[in-house]
Amino acid sequence: MTAVDLEFDQLNSTADALRRSISNRLIYGVGKDAVAARPQDWLHAAALAVRDRLVARWMKTTRQQYEQDVKRVYYLSMEFLIGRTFTNALLALGIYDQMNEALSSLGVDLTSIAELEPDAALGNGGLGRLAACFLDSMATLAIPGFGYGIRYDYGMFRQQIVDGAQIETPDYWLRGGNSWEFPRPEVQYIVHFGGHTIQRDSGVEWVETEHVNAMAYDTVIPGYGTSATNTLRLWSARATEELDLSAFNQGDYRRAVEAKEHSENVSRLLYPDDSTQAGRELRLRQEYFFVSATMQDLIRRYQRTHSTFGRFAEKVAVHLNDTHPVLAIPELIRLLVDVHHVPWDRAWKMVQQVFSYTNHTLMPEALETWDVDMLARLLPRHLEIIFEINAGFLKEASERFGHDVDVIRRISLVDEFGQRRVRMAHLAIVTSQKVNGVSKLHSQLMEREFFSDFARMFPDRFTNVTNGITPRRWLAQASRPLSSLIDSHIGMGWRTDLFELGKLRALKDDPTFAAEFRSAKRRSKIRLANRLLHDMGASIHPDALFDMQVKRIHEYKRQLLNVLHVIVRYNRIRANPNHDWVPRAVIFAGKAASAYKMAKTIIKLIGDVSAIVNNDPLVGDRLKVVFVPNYGVSVAELLIPAADLSEQISMAGTEASGTGNMKLALNGALTVGTMDGANIEICEAVGRENMFIFGLAANEVTEMRSSGYRPRQIYEENAELRQALDQIRTGFFSDGDSHRFSDIFHTLVDWGDHYMVLADFAAFAAAQDAVDARFRDPRAWTASAIENVAGMGQFSSDRTIAEYAREIWRVKALETE
Ligand SMILES: *Cc1c(COP(=O)(O)O)cnc(C)c1O
Repeated sequence: MTAVDLEFDQLNSTADALRRSISNRLIYGVGKDAVAARPQDWLHAAALAVRDRLVARWMKTTRQQYEQDVKRVYYLSMEFLIGRTFTNALLALGIYDQMNEALSSLGVDLTSIAELEPDAALGNGGLGRLAACFLDSMATLAIPGFGYGIRYDYGMFRQQIVDGAQIETPDYWLRGGNSWEFPRPEVQYIVHFGGHTIQRDSGVEWVETEHVNAMAYDTVIPGYGTSATNTLRLWSARATEELDLSAFNQGDYRRAVEAKEHSENVSRLLYPDDSTQAGRELRLRQEYFFVSATMQDLIRRYQRTHSTFGRFAEKVAVHLNDTHPVLAIPELIRLLVDVHHVPWDRAWKMVQQVFSYTNHTLMPEALETWDVDMLARLLPRHLEIIFEINAGFLKEASERFGHDVDVIRRISLVDEFGQRRVRMAHLAIVTSQKVNGVSKLHSQLMEREFFSDFARMFPDRFTNVTNGITPRRWLAQASRPLSSLIDSHIGMGWRTDLFELGKLRALKDDPTFAAEFRSAKRRSKIRLANRLLHDMGASIHPDALFDMQVKRIHEYKRQLLNVLHVIVRYNRIRANPNHDWVPRAVIFAGKAASAYKMAKTIIKLIGDVSAIVNNDPLVGDRLKVVFVPNYGVSVAELLIPAADLSEQISMAGTEASGTGNMKLALNGALTVGTMDGANIEICEAVGRENMFIFGLAANEVTEMRSSGYRPRQIYEENAELRQALDQIRTGFFSDGDSHRFSDIFHTLVDWGDHYMVLADFAAFAAAQDAVDARFRDPRAWTASAIENVAGMGQFSSDRTIAEYAREIWRVKALETE
């Protein structure tokens, strides 16, 4: 390498300079003349002009990281639900207005080209979006952080709704190219699978493996209001040999490319589910593929400036976003012991100082385990390492607890019951220096109930870090009307110090501010109503109460509770059409995992109900039901600013935190919700009088379960509920088809109602009546909405990341000047 001082242009960001950059990028980058340029070409050219401006910051940050020999955080996640980047980058750089001017002078409309950018949908839902919010906050706080994951060719499927039912189509998001990434063909690592191990004097060797290359693609993550940037490095699978030459030479062209296809499949697609076991072996390969490349990469980076592993734990923190990347633990041990010849005891000590783990769910069916036989076949060396960790751990546990067989069985890393399986959460807990839940309730349940044996053994290990969301995307970018209103009263500081929003509390009874607040919300509601009319022919009135449940479709989130209430409301309106009903538009959005039949049936039920309700002349505008297709980050940015009411109605004890709840409250929606996840903390922050809390608490759910829950009795005793359930059962909404929803009926009434929908129904309906009463009084409603916005300070992901940095990773911000 030479170290010539390069001469290059420092780009400034006036409208004129941007206009010139865009023109240059269109001609020399995209290779088009203005006459031939399509809107996509303008977007590409403008994105490249923005990217150029990010790169200068990026290089500076990297240089500073090396100069300051900082400790780095590696955030490992199977999912990053990024959404679009263009507008986000403009706001981070503070050049939105300049870009707008530059583009208009070229005859191009910024907002319409921004809409052409495909979402980077490399995630399913909350967990992946959290990782994306964390990247934004790490960069903004100048924490030296790297996101590591998989560059899936196909992201989350696109959802279409046809006749009320979900249809999945592939999301080939890279079709038009990706302006934001830098391919790094020089950064490739070999990842091995299969084979077997040999014990030699010099150590263990893992031999006769098949391999695939992991190639890096880097995306710049800009911080807001700082020159600091971070990197998201995603791995793509490349065959180690392009072609099977002998097959090729024999003229067997199909076989010549087959092996390549097979090995590159590992980064082909995101599993459209984070809880079920579709394609288990390929999923296991994915998990190992990306953590192996990542561990090799971080060791290489460490070794660039350190000649021994003596300071490794001082300089490296590895965070596991749920259990999907837990194989990083045995992989790092393998690399240290087998490849770099660090003695086992030292390596084991080191990894225990390096890893930390966030648990995201306590639902037993979602806790990841891997079949021992499959591990033996695919990752024999890692299985040996896991067994060795387990032996040491169980020995320690026996010393602690005496040899209590029940305890040992419960905590072992290997579930010996039936087909032997490795419990990934246990491996994570035993190795990590910190283990956290994502809301106070969730962390408490984790420590006191689900992992209490571990908590007794490692009392200082368990902690809570409540989730947060980035206010840059979820308020500044998503809701221009509300954010500029806020700016004009309290300034722009809330973008990086969300507690500033507290200042709005003083304005909550100011009639002028309240009127402005209502009109800002109304602009977002009109925008949504227009879009729904244009895109799907759905007509909703902007003065109706916009009631939203937008999140993945899952039984525990209880979309069914919401639908039942919609049906009861419909029946009430029909029974009493002359009453002065509060008009409502009930909006649903969310994807069902493709293999999750019940979730798909729920979507179909919503579709059937909406077809009847929306076309009933007796009902008119007083009740509308809309299912908005293809929920994802961009759809969320459209929906959330327009919400009046936020439905957060999971059965208490099942939603670890929720972050949709935070986004909606930040946009001035009032919450109807259970005491679950972060709802509890939102309630403390905004005041119970500004929410509609209902239903069983987590401990009451447990009590009711153990004392014998009888849903059929509730069905029999609540006449309105019975009518609604009977309509579902008899095909009232489905042309008399009494078969279509019979599983829903029986699940609720006869098969135990696992998520206690019927138990909470009456309380939910009463809470909805209280919602109507408040909405009739616009002054009271707006005051509560303002209290919600004002109370959201602590739910910034900046607060969350600051806690991780201080309490868990023990990293300091980069000095940027
Ligand atoms: C925030 C978000 C989620 C998580 O929503 P919850 O209501 O917390 O489940 C899921 N998907 C997208 C696209 C989001 O933006």
